[in-house]
Amino acid sequence: MPEIEARTNQDHKCPLCGDKRHQKWGRTRTKIQRYRCTGCQKTYSGRTGSAIGRIHRPDLFMVALRDMLGTSTPQSVRKLARQLGLNKYTVWRWRMLVFSIIGSSISSTSFSRIIEADETYQRESQKRSREWVHHFTDPQNVALPPRPRWEDFTTQGLKMMRGLSKWQLPILTVADRGGAYLFQRLPNRKGISVERAMKPLVPGDAVPCSDGGNGYKDLAAAGGIEHFVVGRKPGKRVVSGCYHIQNVNSLHARYKKFIKPFCGPATKNLNGYISWLEARLAGMEPAEIFRSA
Ligand SMILES: [Zn+2]
Repeated sequence: MPEIEARTNQDHKCPLCGDKRHQKWGRTRTKIQRYRCTGCQKTYSGRTGSAIGRIHRPDLFMVALRDMLGTSTPQSVRKLARQLGLNKYTVWRWRMLVFSIIGSSISSTSFSRIIEADETYQRESQKRSREWVHHFTDPQNVALPPRPRWEDFTTQGLKMMRGLSKWQLPILTVADRGGAYLFQRLPNRKGISVERAMKPLVPGDAVPCSDGGNGYKDLAAAGGIEHFVVGRKPGKRVVSGCYHIQNVNSLHARYKKFIKPFCGPATKNLNGYISWLEARLAGMEPAEIFRSA
Protein backbone atom coordinates (compact mmCIF):
# COMPACT_ATOMS: atom_id res chain seq x y z
CA MET A 1 0.00 0.00 0.00
CA PRO A 2 1.75 3.16 -1.19
CA GLU A 3 -0.09 5.38 1.30
CA ILE A 4 1.50 3.57 4.23
CA GLU A 5 4.94 3.53 2.60
CA ALA A 6 4.60 7.30 2.09
CA ARG A 7 3.79 7.62 5.79
CA THR A 8 7.06 5.89 6.69
CA ASN A 9 9.12 8.05 4.40
CA GLN A 10 7.90 11.47 5.60
CA ASP A 11 9.95 11.38 8.83
CA HIS A 12 11.62 8.04 9.07
CA LYS A 13 12.42 7.08 12.64
CA CYS A 14 11.57 4.25 14.98
CA PRO A 15 8.07 4.81 16.46
CA LEU A 16 9.14 2.98 19.62
CA CYS A 17 12.44 4.68 20.53
CA GLY A 18 12.91 7.44 17.93
CA ASP A 19 16.18 6.07 16.54
CA LYS A 20 16.76 6.88 12.87
CA ARG A 21 19.03 3.90 12.14
CA HIS A 22 17.16 0.99 10.60
CA GLN A 23 17.35 -1.77 8.04
CA LYS A 24 14.73 -3.36 5.83
CA TRP A 25 13.26 -6.47 7.46
CA GLY A 26 10.96 -8.23 4.99
CA ARG A 27 7.30 -7.47 4.51
CA THR A 28 4.40 -7.58 6.93
CA ARG A 29 1.28 -9.75 6.68
CA THR A 30 -0.39 -6.86 4.81
CA LYS A 31 2.50 -6.72 2.29
CA ILE A 32 4.03 -3.45 3.43
CA GLN A 33 7.70 -2.87 4.11
CA ARG A 34 8.84 -3.85 7.60
CA TYR A 35 11.94 -2.31 9.20
CA ARG A 36 14.10 -3.22 12.16
CA CYS A 37 15.39 -0.47 14.40
CA THR A 38 19.11 -0.69 15.06
CA GLY A 39 18.70 0.99 18.44
CA CYS A 40 16.02 -1.13 20.14
CA GLN A 41 16.13 -4.13 17.78
CA LYS A 42 12.34 -4.08 17.41
CA THR A 43 10.56 -4.29 14.09
CA TYR A 44 7.97 -1.81 12.85
CA SER A 45 6.14 -0.69 9.73
CA GLY A 46 4.71 2.61 8.53
CA ARG A 47 1.58 2.32 10.65
CA THR A 48 3.01 0.97 13.92
CA GLY A 49 1.76 3.04 16.84
CA SER A 50 -0.63 5.14 14.73
CA ALA A 51 -4.41 5.34 14.87
CA ILE A 52 -4.58 2.92 11.93
CA GLY A 53 -1.94 0.59 13.38
CA ARG A 54 -4.30 -2.11 14.61
CA ILE A 55 -6.66 -2.38 11.67
CA HIS A 56 -6.67 -5.97 10.43
CA ARG A 57 -7.61 -5.17 6.85
CA PRO A 58 -5.92 -1.87 5.85
CA ASP A 59 -6.73 -2.66 2.22
CA LEU A 60 -10.48 -2.70 2.95
CA PHE A 61 -10.11 0.31 5.23
CA MET A 62 -8.67 2.13 2.22
CA VAL A 63 -11.74 1.18 0.14
CA ALA A 64 -14.01 2.50 2.90
CA LEU A 65 -11.94 5.68 3.13
CA ARG A 66 -12.13 6.26 -0.64
CA ASP A 67 -15.89 5.85 -0.38
CA MET A 68 -16.08 8.37 2.47
CA LEU A 69 -13.97 10.98 0.70
CA GLY A 70 -14.97 10.29 -2.89
CA THR A 71 -16.95 12.61 -5.12
CA SER A 72 -20.12 10.50 -5.14
CA THR A 73 -22.57 10.26 -2.23
CA PRO A 74 -21.05 8.10 0.53
CA GLN A 75 -22.66 4.69 1.00
CA SER A 76 -24.40 3.66 4.16
CA VAL A 77 -22.43 1.63 6.70
CA ARG A 78 -24.59 -1.43 6.06
CA LYS A 79 -24.20 -1.32 2.27
CA LEU A 80 -20.47 -0.79 2.52
CA ALA A 81 -20.16 -3.65 5.03
CA ARG A 82 -22.07 -5.96 2.71
CA GLN A 83 -19.91 -4.93 -0.22
CA LEU A 84 -16.67 -5.50 1.70
CA GLY A 85 -17.86 -8.68 3.43
CA LEU A 86 -17.40 -7.17 6.88
CA ASN A 87 -19.58 -6.73 9.92
CA LYS A 88 -21.47 -3.43 9.99
CA TYR A 89 -19.96 -2.56 13.38
CA THR A 90 -16.45 -2.84 11.92
CA VAL A 91 -17.31 -0.30 9.23
CA TRP A 92 -19.03 1.88 11.82
CA ARG A 93 -15.90 1.80 14.04
CA TRP A 94 -13.78 2.75 11.04
CA ARG A 95 -16.06 5.70 10.33
CA MET A 96 -15.67 6.88 13.94
CA LEU A 97 -11.91 6.41 13.64
CA VAL A 98 -11.81 8.54 10.49
CA PHE A 99 -13.89 11.21 12.28
CA SER A 100 -11.32 11.43 15.06
CA ILE A 101 -8.41 11.65 12.58
CA ILE A 102 -10.12 14.33 10.47
CA GLY A 103 -11.25 16.25 13.55
CA SER A 104 -7.70 16.56 14.83
CA SER A 105 -6.15 17.39 11.44
CA ILE A 106 -8.40 20.24 10.26
CA SER A 107 -6.58 23.51 10.78
CA SER A 108 -8.25 26.78 11.71
CA THR A 109 -9.23 29.15 8.91
CA SER A 110 -8.97 32.92 8.84
CA PHE A 111 -11.45 35.25 7.18
CA SER A 112 -11.11 38.65 5.57
CA ARG A 113 -13.09 41.46 3.87
CA ILE A 114 -16.75 40.54 3.27
CA ILE A 115 -17.69 37.80 5.73
CA GLU A 116 -21.05 36.03 5.43
CA ALA A 117 -22.51 34.34 8.48
CA ASP A 118 -25.72 32.53 9.31
CA GLU A 119 -26.91 29.53 11.29
CA THR A 120 -28.46 26.30 10.17
CA TYR A 121 -30.13 23.81 12.50
CA GLN A 122 -29.89 20.11 13.19
CA ARG A 123 -32.37 18.26 15.35
CA GLU A 124 -30.97 16.92 18.60
CA SER A 125 -30.75 13.12 18.68
CA GLN A 126 -30.02 10.74 21.54
CA LYS A 127 -29.91 7.76 19.19
CA ARG A 128 -28.59 4.64 20.93
CA SER A 129 -28.14 6.49 24.24
CA ARG A 130 -30.47 4.14 26.21
CA GLU A 131 -31.38 7.06 28.48
CA TRP A 132 -34.95 5.74 28.96
CA VAL A 133 -33.69 2.24 29.77
CA HIS A 134 -31.32 3.72 32.36
CA HIS A 135 -34.19 5.77 33.78
CA PHE A 136 -36.55 2.81 34.10
CA THR A 137 -33.93 0.53 35.68
CA ASP A 138 -32.96 3.12 38.28
CA PRO A 139 -35.66 5.84 38.48
CA GLN A 140 -34.29 7.05 41.83
CA ASN A 141 -30.92 8.12 40.51
CA VAL A 142 -31.48 8.63 36.79
CA ALA A 143 -33.83 11.54 36.10
CA LEU A 144 -36.63 11.38 33.54
CA PRO A 145 -35.18 12.36 30.14
CA PRO A 146 -36.55 15.79 29.18
CA ARG A 147 -37.22 15.01 25.52
CA PRO A 148 -40.23 13.03 24.30
CA ARG A 149 -39.66 9.70 22.59
CA TRP A 150 -40.92 9.21 19.04
CA GLU A 151 -43.55 6.79 20.33
CA ASP A 152 -44.94 9.50 22.67
CA PHE A 153 -46.13 11.41 19.64
CA THR A 154 -48.54 8.58 18.84
CA THR A 155 -49.30 7.09 22.27
CA GLN A 156 -49.74 10.42 24.09
CA GLY A 157 -50.90 12.39 21.06
CA LEU A 158 -48.14 15.01 21.38
CA LYS A 159 -48.05 17.62 18.64
CA MET A 160 -45.05 17.32 16.34
CA MET A 161 -42.86 20.38 16.89
CA ARG A 162 -42.40 22.68 13.93
CA GLY A 163 -39.87 25.45 13.53
CA LEU A 164 -37.18 26.30 16.03
CA SER A 165 -37.17 24.87 19.52
CA LYS A 166 -34.52 23.94 22.05
CA TRP A 167 -34.23 20.56 20.29
CA GLN A 168 -32.87 22.27 17.18
CA LEU A 169 -29.12 22.66 17.55
CA PRO A 170 -27.57 25.68 15.84
CA ILE A 171 -24.58 25.30 13.53
CA LEU A 172 -22.87 28.57 12.65
CA THR A 173 -21.62 28.82 9.07
CA VAL A 174 -19.12 31.49 8.09
CA ALA A 175 -17.72 32.12 4.61
CA ASP A 176 -15.76 34.86 2.91
CA ARG A 177 -15.24 35.66 -0.76
CA GLY A 178 -11.75 34.15 -0.79
CA GLY A 179 -13.27 30.68 -0.45
CA ALA A 180 -12.59 30.22 3.27
CA TYR A 181 -15.50 28.71 5.20
CA LEU A 182 -16.26 27.03 8.48
CA PHE A 183 -19.06 25.12 10.22
CA GLN A 184 -19.17 25.42 13.99
CA ARG A 185 -21.59 24.04 16.56
CA LEU A 186 -23.02 26.65 18.92
CA PRO A 187 -24.06 25.78 22.49
CA ASN A 188 -27.48 27.47 22.07
CA ARG A 189 -29.46 29.96 19.99
CA LYS A 190 -28.68 32.99 22.17
CA GLY A 191 -27.16 36.07 20.54
CA ILE A 192 -24.23 36.00 22.96
CA SER A 193 -23.18 32.53 21.72
CA VAL A 194 -23.13 33.80 18.15
CA GLU A 195 -21.17 36.85 19.22
CA ARG A 196 -18.63 34.77 21.15
CA ALA A 197 -18.13 32.34 18.26
CA MET A 198 -17.84 35.10 15.66
CA LYS A 199 -15.49 37.39 17.59
CA PRO A 200 -12.19 35.58 16.88
CA LEU A 201 -13.18 35.09 13.21
CA VAL A 202 -13.92 38.69 12.24
CA PRO A 203 -10.93 41.04 11.91
CA GLY A 204 -11.42 44.77 12.59
CA ASP A 205 -11.47 45.83 8.94
CA ALA A 206 -13.97 43.17 7.80
CA VAL A 207 -17.58 43.72 6.74
CA PRO A 208 -19.87 41.03 8.13
CA CYS A 209 -23.12 40.22 6.28
CA SER A 210 -25.90 38.42 8.13
CA ASP A 211 -29.64 38.12 8.46
CA GLY A 212 -29.50 40.67 11.28
CA GLY A 213 -29.65 38.35 14.31
CA ASN A 214 -28.82 40.01 17.64
CA GLY A 215 -25.46 38.28 17.93
CA TYR A 216 -24.21 39.79 14.67
CA LYS A 217 -25.57 43.25 15.51
CA ASP A 218 -23.92 43.21 18.93
CA LEU A 219 -20.65 41.99 17.46
CA ALA A 220 -20.62 44.84 14.92
CA ALA A 221 -21.60 47.41 17.55
CA ALA A 222 -18.95 46.23 20.03
CA GLY A 223 -16.20 46.21 17.41
CA GLY A 224 -17.37 49.43 15.73
CA ILE A 225 -17.47 47.73 12.35
CA GLU A 226 -19.80 48.09 9.40
CA HIS A 227 -22.44 45.38 9.20
CA PHE A 228 -24.81 44.53 6.37
CA VAL A 229 -28.19 43.06 7.15
CA VAL A 230 -29.70 40.91 4.45
CA GLY A 231 -33.50 40.56 4.39
CA ARG A 232 -34.91 37.40 5.90
CA LYS A 233 -37.46 36.99 3.12
CA PRO A 234 -36.17 34.80 0.26
CA GLY A 235 -36.82 37.51 -2.35
CA LYS A 236 -34.82 40.08 -0.39
CA ARG A 237 -31.65 38.05 0.10
CA VAL A 238 -29.50 40.50 -1.86
CA VAL A 239 -29.09 43.96 -0.34
CA SER A 240 -26.93 45.50 -3.03
CA GLY A 241 -24.36 43.99 -5.35
CA CYS A 242 -21.79 42.10 -3.35
CA TYR A 243 -23.50 42.23 0.06
CA HIS A 244 -25.37 38.95 0.30
CA ILE A 245 -25.13 35.63 2.14
CA GLN A 246 -25.50 33.37 -0.86
CA ASN A 247 -22.26 31.48 -0.26
CA VAL A 248 -23.40 30.60 3.24
CA ASN A 249 -26.84 29.64 1.93
CA SER A 250 -25.26 27.34 -0.61
CA LEU A 251 -23.10 25.77 2.13
CA HIS A 252 -26.29 25.18 4.11
CA ALA A 253 -27.88 23.48 1.11
CA ARG A 254 -24.84 21.23 0.79
CA TYR A 255 -24.94 20.44 4.50
CA LYS A 256 -28.63 19.49 4.30
CA LYS A 257 -28.05 17.28 1.29
CA PHE A 258 -25.06 15.60 2.94
CA ILE A 259 -26.71 14.97 6.31
CA LYS A 260 -30.11 13.76 5.02
CA PRO A 261 -29.23 10.09 4.38
CA PHE A 262 -28.06 9.72 8.00
CA CYS A 263 -31.62 10.39 9.26
CA GLY A 264 -30.47 12.73 12.02
CA PRO A 265 -27.09 11.57 13.36
CA ALA A 266 -26.69 11.16 17.13
CA THR A 267 -25.76 14.50 18.65
CA LYS A 268 -22.62 13.03 20.23
CA ASN A 269 -21.36 12.27 16.68
CA LEU A 270 -22.53 15.50 15.03
CA ASN A 271 -19.12 17.18 15.23
CA GLY A 272 -17.64 14.18 13.43
CA TYR A 273 -20.18 14.44 10.62
CA ILE A 274 -19.49 18.18 10.32
CA SER A 275 -15.74 17.61 10.01
CA TRP A 276 -16.43 14.82 7.52
CA LEU A 277 -18.39 17.29 5.36
CA GLU A 278 -15.59 19.85 5.69
CA ALA A 279 -13.05 17.24 4.58
CA ARG A 280 -15.24 16.31 1.59
CA LEU A 281 -15.74 19.96 0.60
CA ALA A 282 -12.01 20.60 0.92
CA GLY A 283 -11.31 17.60 -1.33
CA MET A 284 -9.19 15.83 1.31
CA GLU A 285 -7.35 12.82 -0.10
CA PRO A 286 -7.32 9.41 1.64
CA ALA A 287 -3.52 9.67 1.73
CA GLU A 288 -3.81 12.75 3.96
CA ILE A 289 -5.77 10.71 6.49
CA PHE A 290 -2.91 8.19 6.56
CA ARG A 291 -0.33 10.93 7.00
CA SER A 292 -2.09 12.52 9.98
CA ALA A 293 -3.24 9.27 11.64
ZN1 LIG B 1 13.76 1.66 18.09
